[in-house]
Amino acid sequence: MTTNASNRLGLLPPYLFAAIDAAKKAALDKGADIISLGVGDPDLPTPPHIISAGQAALAKPSNHQYPFGAGLLSFRQAVSNWYKSRFQVELDPACEIYSLIGSKDGLTHLPLAFLNPGDTAIVPEPAYPAYNASILLAGGKTHFVPLREENGFLPDLAAIPSAVLAGAKLFYVNFPSNPLSVTAPRSFYEKLVALAREHGFLVVHDAAYSEMYYEEPPLSFLQIPGAKEVGIEFHSCSKTYNMTGWRVGWVCGNADAVRVLGRLKDNYDSGVFQAVQEAAVAALAGSQSCVADMRRLYKERRDLFVPRLRALGWNVTNPPATFYVWAHTPAGVSSAKTAERLLNEAHIVCTPGNGFGPTGEGYVRFALTVPPARLEQALQRIGKMAW
Ligand SMILES: *Cc1c(COP(=O)(O)O)cnc(C)c1O
Repeated sequence: MTTNASNRLGLLPPYLFAAIDAAKKAALDKGADIISLGVGDPDLPTPPHIISAGQAALAKPSNHQYPFGAGLLSFRQAVSNWYKSRFQVELDPACEIYSLIGSKDGLTHLPLAFLNPGDTAIVPEPAYPAYNASILLAGGKTHFVPLREENGFLPDLAAIPSAVLAGAKLFYVNFPSNPLSVTAPRSFYEKLVALAREHGFLVVHDAAYSEMYYEEPPLSFLQIPGAKEVGIEFHSCSKTYNMTGWRVGWVCGNADAVRVLGRLKDNYDSGVFQAVQEAAVAALAGSQSCVADMRRLYKERRDLFVPRLRALGWNVTNPPATFYVWAHTPAGVSSAKTAERLLNEAHIVCTPGNGFGPTGEGYVRFALTVPPARLEQALQRIGKMAW
């Protein structure tokens, strides 16, 4: 027997969070009171009306069989209605929406469906590491575009060589951004649609955080005229309805692209558990007051954490969206060293910014996924550290 991993797995970049994971485990083993601001997973339960719908759906024998394919028509209809009321975007449930086992399922299978070996995908960074990993696993090449603070953390489209744009098959964007927290203005999406038309690449917008905002509601990429001809958008119940464990999301937009991804997925999985789809229908079609409550909760945490962190001398922008705080490290201290010292001296877990790409060096990401009293404690501990 051989247990050697494939060459394909060997293509993956080193896992930059391994050191911090090991240090966290060691501290926990010693009984340390760890405050985890590392992983972006909501700490509150799924709202009760969604759980009830899921429980009722669980008891129905018709839901116990393979779900297969694009998903229940009722699910796709609920997505279509939600898009119409939230974004004024029309989506045809028959061919422009496909259910996913969480949006990560679709995002990571996408390169296998679209890239031939050696094909290029453009990925702005710092970004969700799964984009690059799945491009490499599919035999593709990633062209990274740096997201810099002086450009409002938007990709500088004019700086991308036209040969790269002409050769690219996919162009990923993610607004509101994990880990950068920023949203993109309409003018950015308009330029991106024009570029996609000119060069023929597919725009892939990850909109997982579209409902977690504290200022203007973020746009859907599909609101831009012509967007549906050149792109698709990924969405998820995970962050909007505290449903990360349920695994339900969808891809929508360009019907040909949705069909291609669906064809690939039909060979890999057998769909989203229908009881979970019915719970998602309850989430999308029900009252959205739980979403407003979620925003209020994270805004309170943001308004507690950010000003106090600034008062301690940290250079932080106030996030307009998401539950992430993207903070400059103290002057002259690397991302890895900052994360290591926060863990060892304050028992706080954060994520080193360079784990999201080289342009993230000099930053750390805090996820505001603990109650205010814990954030208070975290701030007190940070306040005692000397850099
Ligand atoms: C959390 C997150 C998602 C959602 O993942 P699911 O598979 O839907 O749970 C997608 N993209 C980004 C950038 C995320 O942070």
